[in-house]
Amino acid sequence: MLDKMIKKKEKNKHKDKDKKKHHDKKIVEAKKRKSHKNFQFEYSESLESTDVVKIQPKNALFINGEFVEPTEGSYFPTINPGDGEVLAEVAEASAKDVDMAVRAARKAYETTWSKISGAERGKYLFRIARMIQERAREFAVLETLDNGKPIKESRDVDIPLVAAHFFYNAGWADKLDFAFPGKKVQPLGVAAQVIPWNFPLLMAAWKIAPALAAGNCVVLKPAETTPLSALLLAEVIQQSGLPPGVVNIVTGAGATGSHLVNHPDINKVAFTGSTQVGKMIAKATAKTNKRLTLELGGKSAHIVYEDAAIDQAIEGVVNGIFFNQGHVCCAGSRLLVEESIAQVFTDKLKDRMQKIRVGNPLDKNTDIGAINSHRELEKIRDFVNGAREEGWDYFSASATEAPSRGFYHKPCFFNHVASSATVFRKEVFGPVLAISTFRTPAEAIAKANDTPYGLAAGVWSEKASKIQKTALGLKAGVIWANTYNKFDPSSPFGGYNESGWGREGGRHGLYPYLEVQ
Ligand code: NAP
Ligand code: MG
Repeated sequence: MLDKMIKKKEKNKHKDKDKKKHHDKKIVEAKKRKSHKNFQFEYSESLESTDVVKIQPKNALFINGEFVEPTEGSYFPTINPGDGEVLAEVAEASAKDVDMAVRAARKAYETTWSKISGAERGKYLFRIARMIQERAREFAVLETLDNGKPIKESRDVDIPLVAAHFFYNAGWADKLDFAFPGKKVQPLGVAAQVIPWNFPLLMAAWKIAPALAAGNCVVLKPAETTPLSALLLAEVIQQSGLPPGVVNIVTGAGATGSHLVNHPDINKVAFTGSTQVGKMIAKATAKTNKRLTLELGGKSAHIVYEDAAIDQAIEGVVNGIFFNQGHVCCAGSRLLVEESIAQVFTDKLKDRMQKIRVGNPLDKNTDIGAINSHRELEKIRDFVNGAREEGWDYFSASATEAPSRGFYHKPCFFNHVASSATVFRKEVFGPVLAISTFRTPAEAIAKANDTPYGLAAGVWSEKASKIQKTALGLKAGVIWANTYNKFDPSSPFGGYNESGWGREGGRHGLYPYLEVQ
């Protein structure tokens, strides 16, 4: 009996020893982890192959179903912002070329497109959507080469959404009578569409798909710095057998855009770009019968309450302003964080930023790719220098150093920024965040609304009622709850005030392309 008791005691002693050992080991590991808080995994480069794309050295205009040389014979270069090298030469459309494109669109509208049924139109759109899916990798690589966005963005976000927009609108083509019950709907005719460089193919899809589904023909002008994916889309359109002239693509700079929106035989203008150019177009079309929709700039705010899931909110903020280089019209470029968690939040944000990988856009590990052009990079640098001179608390970090060639900018933020600060008011269009605090929901709403824009907002809280109440007070076209930058072709998108007029996407996105009686 005594023997047994001694043995049991010994056993327990060992157990305690084991427990202590285990406990000590855990403490050592935790200490190690703490000292390695900013431990970085080594990543080997994982470059997406560019073999899938064949870039022509000289690229013509797409008019009346054919690739044609510009009448004045002038071309301009498009550059790969990842390394600053010229990718290709692209035709510069003159007023004469634009006129040819508009005439082709008018003829197609009158002779074919307005004559065929909605179901027929839908068939073409479904076909284009499937062809985009089949060539998705080619589109993604080309977009990354011409725009500078990371391949993981173009591959996982842009191109799938492009196909989704064509599929979605294809579905409406034969159901327009149900989109606006009790109303009679008719297409408008020829639409002039001018788009920016930040989501080149996605903006083309947002414009072309609803216009065609509603029965219009189009002339599209891509941005000067990112014309290549629209020209590949032209190739897909040609191969899809879409009747000639239904879609025309004219490349060029601002002057080409101006010729297009001012052409007298246009029924509708759809513009996405800066508020400054948007205002010029609004003035120019004011004295005409042209319909107009404008998708313009933004200075969108996140509101993070103290009861939010902080790590989730950090991801949302990082995704909202840093990924895609901040080249997003609805970028969450202002962060309003409840004062009680402001210190914890910014500390965590700093840790997270130290793990962001700035680098070659073709590397699958890259989080932040290249700024689209040298001009844009200079604009961002000027903003950052200006805000530093104004004296706002500056922080910048990333896990990697930017490549020596090409146009890159590290993510950064300015903390404790006043609502009057330039960096809090003006659109930077780069990976630059302005942070301020609030104490009450009313103050958060007032600060978020204190802007001439009104495109989007993000609200972070565990309480649905708080989110709902906050959202009702915000003047923004899109409000995300506990997430950010989520897009779906069935959701309308658009802004208040200087962020624009009208909506794109969803049933609402068909409306501007129809006469609804
Ligand atoms: P931008 O200078 O206004 O250019 C947009 C497009 O308009 C480009 O194709 C441009 O050609 C063309 N353009 C320039 N001047 C013109 C004129 N006088 N008449 C007709 N067209 C003209 O804008 P950006 O700097 O390229 O793009 C960034 C802006 O777009 C940001 O402000 C951003 O917020 C906004 N954006 C808004 C949305 C939205 O949905 N709300 C989406 C994306 C971007 P060039 O390329 O040759 O200059
Ligand atoms: Mg380019």
